[in-house]
Amino acid sequence: MTVQQEALARARAFVAAGPSPVVTARDPVNQPMIRRWCEAMGDANPLYQHREAAQQAGLDDVVSPPAMLDVWTMEPYNPLVERVGDHPVFAVLEEYGFTRIVATNVEQEYDRYLAPGDLVSMTVRVADVSDEKRTGLGDGHFVTLWYEFTDQHGAPVGRMSFRLLKFKPRVAGAGQPREEKPEQPPAEPPRPITTPDTKHFWKGLIDRQVLIQQCSDCNELRHPPTPMCPHCRSMKWHTLPAVGRGVIHSFALIHQPKLPGFEYPLPVVLVDLEEGVRLLANLVVADNAEVAVGRKVVLDFREITPDFVLPVFRLDDGGQ
Ligand code: ZN
Repeated sequence: MTVQQEALARARAFVAAGPSPVVTARDPVNQPMIRRWCEAMGDANPLYQHREAAQQAGLDDVVSPPAMLDVWTMEPYNPLVERVGDHPVFAVLEEYGFTRIVATNVEQEYDRYLAPGDLVSMTVRVADVSDEKRTGLGDGHFVTLWYEFTDQHGAPVGRMSFRLLKFKPRVAGAGQPREEKPEQPPAEPPRPITTPDTKHFWKGLIDRQVLIQQCSDCNELRHPPTPMCPHCRSMKWHTLPAVGRGVIHSFALIHQPKLPGFEYPLPVVLVDLEEGVRLLANLVVADNAEVAVGRKVVLDFREITPDFVLPVFRLDDGGQ
């Protein structure tokens, strides 16, 4: 039996094992949780929150949104509260290197509306474990969990099929033979998450400018970007391009974690810009022994792709 066959056999043993012990909701179906859910999902259906509307529709009272079927028996958020935990089939697959998980699809069926006061219980079983599949995320097994929900009288109220992919993350050159493509393009650094508050900064870099925020009311400069002036609380601001000269205020040589697109040990410098704000960036230097507090630096740019540029510093006095 190969390792792949063993993994599959052990995971599929859960299919034959049948359903889990019954899990009963910690709280009965209730209006506050319904309200929060509707707010979070943007669901304004009046049947869920307004008694009159529900009665006009022939219901006794407000009802729970059907899609909340599996909400009532969900695990506590707080990891300190005792949890049932993930289904043990996932721990078995992890032993074989399928360490990552992603939900792929959910289907629910409803027998009736749940209403405040109902107490939901559920069982879950493994309905299927697929053969090992190759996907864009990596090689893995699709696991289908089958949930059955009942009310306080033991009567069925709905069921749910929840399919997940448990996979080995694709890592270039990590033992998994990767067919074709003999030349891998150089790895790119992870891209920043931009927000409305930081968009101008990353856009500025594409135009080869480090844009410093300046308060339009009190003229104070600030960096990193924030929506509000910390000096006068004004929300009005514009930007000023940095001249690009500064002095190393502090630095670190980063050894871990190793992100793609950088060479390690990676010098990271906190620079006092001439304008009076500090900027954190990488230092491009031939010999890391050259890095020192107080050294003068000049700004430069590292183009990863035409739409992704990082600021970098170089030593000002001869160190290239
Ligand atoms: Zn201000």
